[in-house]
Amino acid sequence: MDFELSEEQKMFREAIHQFAEKEIAPLVEEAEKTSTFPIQLFPKMGGLGYLCLSYSPEYGAAGMGKVGECIAVEEVAYYAVGIAAGTMVQGGIGTAAINLHGSEDQKQKYLVPAIKGQKIAAFGLTEPNAGSDAASIETTATKKNGKYVLNGTKIFITNGSICDFVVTAAVTDKSKGARGGISLFVVESGTAGFSRSKLHKFCARSGEIAELSFEDCAVPEENLIGEEGQGFPYLMESLMGGRISHAARSLGLARATFDATIEYAKERVQFGQPIAKFQANAFKLARMDMEINAARWVIYNAAWLYDQGKPYRKQAAMAKLFASEVAAHVTTEGMQIHGGYGLMEESVAQRYFRDARLGTITEGTSEIQLLVISRELGIR
Ligand SMILES: Cc1cc2nc3c(=O)[nH]c(=O)nc-3n(C[C@H](O)[C@H](O)[C@H](O)COP(=O)(O)OP(=O)(O)OC[C@H]3O[C@@H](n4cnc5c(N)ncnc54)[C@H](O)[C@@H]3O)c2cc1C
Repeated sequence: MDFELSEEQKMFREAIHQFAEKEIAPLVEEAEKTSTFPIQLFPKMGGLGYLCLSYSPEYGAAGMGKVGECIAVEEVAYYAVGIAAGTMVQGGIGTAAINLHGSEDQKQKYLVPAIKGQKIAAFGLTEPNAGSDAASIETTATKKNGKYVLNGTKIFITNGSICDFVVTAAVTDKSKGARGGISLFVVESGTAGFSRSKLHKFCARSGEIAELSFEDCAVPEENLIGEEGQGFPYLMESLMGGRISHAARSLGLARATFDATIEYAKERVQFGQPIAKFQANAFKLARMDMEINAARWVIYNAAWLYDQGKPYRKQAAMAKLFASEVAAHVTTEGMQIHGGYGLMEESVAQRYFRDARLGTITEGTSEIQLLVISRELGIR
């Protein structure tokens, strides 16, 4: 067994951490205040090879596997969960189906520019009436004169307001049910009949989400990803891999909270001594550190399994569930240790506390992860 990152991975972690400290951290306050993703980061990160880390060098990516992707997501999330959400979709659910099942033309047109940060990707699955129950989507795509005509609404779509294209799930044959009746399409922003409106959330404000609307939105036949009717397995596959990076985002947030909290606890003096010295606080910090450490290995184990081509479904669900709950707990304890100052708007503790809520809801809620795990155990 080897619990060490390779030398290359360690150097990469150091490089992206420094990049995030220098290029991302200064943008966070403004981005959070205005609920605006700083889109200049896409070409900057793409130019340095910091996007879509797990994809093949054949398309210009770094080819660092899921472990590399997790390292990047963790380091970006250390400074801003909202920004990490946007860059994560770029190298995850927003492009995974194109990477795995897209035509060569689609890869050249969408994947390569996404890797370079020249085009922004989004993934449109969730609808007002279809969240956890993804199979119940109502958006339709009807074949007409060599085109697919889309009608429907998507909600809560990360990067939806800033994307250049969105990989969209739509029903192509209702009679076949989800497995066989759903397909994935690339819809470019600017296509007639495609509109979007930005939504405002209380957390991860440096990232953007939007509602997307398709009204007789016609896309060329060649925008169908892979085979017609295979969209559901494709999107489940994208979501399954995405859970591991999602977990790494929670880990970055938990680490940031821990670092800020221990620093505060060492500086803040009450009853004549730093509050870190009180056993109540010291034990909280010890538990936070333990949980973060445990989350790290659940995540990197799942990433390693993914990279080895071994079964990883259960470990990915466990990593997502566990890391998001660790982040929720660590950020709650972080607030408590910050006392009244943690409740102030300028405190990072309250931002971290808010941002942790994202982890247990998006890309499959905690309850859905428990469903996946119990199915893997063969008891459901
Ligand atoms: C900030 C943000 C970003 C997002 N980004 C994207 C994106 O980029 N693309 C995209 O397609 N979607 C995106 N989503 C949607 C997200 O994945 C869904 O919100 C999530 O899957 C849950 O769906 P829902 O909100 O409709 O909740 P619901 O499905 O209505 O669930 C409500 C509650 O019921 C529970 N529940 C539901 N079904 C079951 C069950 N069978 N057993 C036990 N409990 C159950 C849930 O766990 C939850 O607690 C995003 C959402 C947010 C908030």
